[in-house]
Amino acid sequence: MRRIALLGSTGSIGESTLAVLRRHPDRFRLVALTAHSNAEKLRQQAAEWRPDFAGLSSPMVDGWHLPSGPEVLVAAATHPDVDIVVNAVVGAAGLEATLAALRAGKRVALANKESLVTGGPLVAEAARLGGGEIVPVDSEHSAVLQCIAGREAALSRLVLTASGGPFRAWDAPDVAKATVAQALRHPTWSMGSKITVDSATLANKALELIEAHFLFGLPYDALEAVVHPQSIVHAFAEFADGSVLAQLGFPSMELPILYALTHPDRVPDDGVRRFDPVAIGQLTFEPVRADVFRAFSLGVASGRAGGTAPATFNAANEEAVAAFLGGRIPFGRIAETIDAVLQRHDVRPIADVATVRHADVTARAAARVAMES
Ligand code: NAD
Ligand code: MG
Repeated sequence: MRRIALLGSTGSIGESTLAVLRRHPDRFRLVALTAHSNAEKLRQQAAEWRPDFAGLSSPMVDGWHLPSGPEVLVAAATHPDVDIVVNAVVGAAGLEATLAALRAGKRVALANKESLVTGGPLVAEAARLGGGEIVPVDSEHSAVLQCIAGREAALSRLVLTASGGPFRAWDAPDVAKATVAQALRHPTWSMGSKITVDSATLANKALELIEAHFLFGLPYDALEAVVHPQSIVHAFAEFADGSVLAQLGFPSMELPILYALTHPDRVPDDGVRRFDPVAIGQLTFEPVRADVFRAFSLGVASGRAGGTAPATFNAANEEAVAAFLGGRIPFGRIAETIDAVLQRHDVRPIADVATVRHADVTARAAARVAMES
């Protein structure tokens, strides 16, 4: 019996995780749950699962009398009865819980890619010090892990696939004017609104290349993205002799979530649609249009710059995406805002969480100024 803490239980990954756990009551027990502000949904989940701990990470929510405030994330992540922490929080707010879980020697099933993007060097250090381990939930990185397990030393290059998002084939001027409804209409995946917008700007694929850099230890010259509209091949792993392995499947997060809980083992599961090459028909690949999707190029450049640059990229992107979703800026301003913030950023090495938080707060303030002008 593996005992689970689920951070961000009310979100898209949170609910998919609960769907997986429901199919495997003999393997997993849910011990701790956190949500941000949806007290009603958390209450329903707590009534179904009877966890030892349920907390709301937002400081004050009317009618909630159990633990609340940002500290509940670390409290759930370090709960003494927990073996595996599923971090399904969205955004930079997930970093401290990832670090605390690793320092406490837990496995972190990581959906919150922003943990690695903002604090990559700290995550590696926390895992080393506490004996914890990261297992990715992100489908592309789960695919890589499934391809390389046992052959890590011979890995030479990774190619992550991207659906291309809803604007894959649009002309640049139309992309710049895209509406919120258009950006939220993802062709192949159903996800939370922030990552869905990141998939439309392709900022998500830049975040994922940075995530891959820290997970698999490859330099950026050995990390690439390719557009694959069918979202069937999740990643390619190339080895020293030129051989390439890939992992395939119909798009569903439930398989990578289950694998993150059981890695390196596989367990029987009937939750995902079985593979059917004839139904798929065609697998096609095209280059990323980096000139149109500038958030992608800016993100990769921030990864190459290292230090506080990716945390700055991430914070500027989070602020700009929130403003876009709130109807305050057009789609095209997301990349412009990130660009303005990165241009003014002085890259520093990451010494501790305070360095990351400082870069994050500074970038958010700079993004707001850039969006007002
Ligand atoms: P979502 O918006 O659906 O859910 C986010 C969850 O985090 C919710 O439970 C919410 O209550 C909680 N939350 C929001 N703000 C918070 C804060 N400040 N502090 C603590 N908790 C907070 O998002 P999602 O689509 O489930 O994505 C979650 C993470 O997983 C993201 O990092 C995303 O990039 C990653 N991811 C998601 C998918 C997917 O299919 N949805 C795929 C790959 C990776
Ligand atoms: Mg992904």
